[in-house]
Amino acid sequence: MKLYSTNNKNLRISFKEAVFNSMPQDKGLYMPVEIPQLDPDFIKNIEQYSLPEIAYKVASALLRDEIPDEDLKALIEDAINFEAPALKLDEDTYVLELFHGPSLAFKDFGARFMSRVMAYFLKDGEQLLDVLVATSGDTGGAVALGFLGVPNTRVTILYPEGKVSPIQELQLTTNGQNIRAIEVKGTFDDCQALVKQAFADEELNAKFRLTSANSINISRLIPQTFYYFNTFAQLKKQGFDEVIFSVPSGNFGNIGAGLLAYKLGLPVKKFIAATNINDTVPRFLESGIYETKPSTQTYSNAMDVGAPSNWIRIMDLFNQDVEALKKVVTSYRFNDEETLAGIIDIDVKFDYVACPHTAIAYLAIEKYRKEKPEDKSAAVFLSTAHACKFPDIFPSDIAAKIEIPEQVKALESKSHHADKLGVDFEGFKNYLLSRVN
Ligand SMILES: *Cc1c(COP(=O)(O)O)cnc(C)c1O
Repeated sequence: MKLYSTNNKNLRISFKEAVFNSMPQDKGLYMPVEIPQLDPDFIKNIEQYSLPEIAYKVASALLRDEIPDEDLKALIEDAINFEAPALKLDEDTYVLELFHGPSLAFKDFGARFMSRVMAYFLKDGEQLLDVLVATSGDTGGAVALGFLGVPNTRVTILYPEGKVSPIQELQLTTNGQNIRAIEVKGTFDDCQALVKQAFADEELNAKFRLTSANSINISRLIPQTFYYFNTFAQLKKQGFDEVIFSVPSGNFGNIGAGLLAYKLGLPVKKFIAATNINDTVPRFLESGIYETKPSTQTYSNAMDVGAPSNWIRIMDLFNQDVEALKKVVTSYRFNDEETLAGIIDIDVKFDYVACPHTAIAYLAIEKYRKEKPEDKSAAVFLSTAHACKFPDIFPSDIAAKIEIPEQVKALESKSHHADKLGVDFEGFKNYLLSRVN
C-alpha cells in the first residue's frame, strides 16, 4: 500500500511511515493511492464470513504486502475481538451497535487496530513509543484501553478536570501498566495545547519517540470499514441487497470509512451524515460554501466539531466533485431539543435506549424517509457509544433502564490514579522529562 497526501498527489510513502507520522508535513491527510475493487464473489457470498474474516479480506486488499498474511490475521483477531451486531428494530430499520468493545464506543475499532499495527512495526530493541493524547472523553478511553499492555508502548492521556463523565474518568485512570493519566486544571483546549507544544519541543523529541494516535491516523480509518461490510453481510442474511447507513458525525472519520468501503465495492444506496448544530457539512451540501466555525457544546458532545478534520478525505474520495458526492451523501442537522425527543421516540417505539449521538442518526433516517418515501431500502443507524457514558442527558425513567455493562462494573472496584498538572507547559515538560522510562 502506498499513500499520497491530499495536498500532494505525487507523494508516495509506505503504510508504516503514514502510521507513525499520522499527518503529512503539508497538512493534508494520507490517502491510499490505489483503492482496489474487492472480488465481486466475495461481496456476493459475504454472509458466509465472520467479522474477523471480513476484516482480513478488506485489510489485505488495501494493505497488500505491508504485513504478511498470517501476521495480519493474528493482528485482526487480537484487535477485533468483540461483536458489532445489527439489531432489528422493525421491518426495515436496524441499529448497528458499535459499543461492545472495552471503552464502549466505536473508537475501539480504530484504537485497537492502530495500537497493534504500531506495536507490529516497532521492531525488537527499538525505542519505546510514547503516545500523547488529549481527550474530551471518548478518544482517551479507547486509546488507553487499545494500548493497554501493548509491548514497547506508553500512553499519556491529558484530560480536563471535572469535564469527563464518571465512567469515562474510570476508563482513563484505572489502567496502570503502560498507561498514565494526567488531570489538567483547565479545559480540553488547554490539554490539546500542551500536547501540541510537546510535539513541537526539540528537547522532548530528542529524548522520546513521540506519536499522537489521533483520529486522522490512516490506521484508525481502515478498521472502521470492517463493520460496514459486516453489517451488509448481516442484512444480506435477512434478504436485503442494498442499505442506507446513517452515521452520527463529528470529525467525519466514521462516515469517511463508510465511503471508503463504498469505493471498495460495498453496495450502499445512501449515506446520511447526521450532525448536531455543529453543521459545517450540512451547510456545505446545501449552499456549496464550506465555512468552518468554532464548535458549540451540545448533548452529543463527541460530535461538537466545527472543522471536521476528515472532510478533506471525503472530498478526495470523490475527486472534489460535489455533485457526485451529493448523489451518495445526504446530510441533516438536529439540535438538543430534537435529540432529546429522538431519545424518547426510540424508547417509546422500540423500547431501546440510544445515546444522544445514536439518537441523531435515528432522526436523520426518519427525516430522509419523509423526504424520500419512494426509497424502501433497509436503513441502519450507527450506535457509536453505550448510553451509560452519558448519564446526565436522559429523563429519569429512561436513565433507569440503562444497563451497566460488565466492563464498567469491573472498573468501579479498581483503584484509580491520575497525576495532576496545571496548564503551564514547563510543568508538563518537567513531568515527562522526570519519567524517562
Ligand atoms: C467520536 C464520536 C463520534 C463522531 O465520530 P467521527 O468519526 O468523529 O465523525 C460520534 N459518536 C461518538 C459516541 C463518538 O465518540
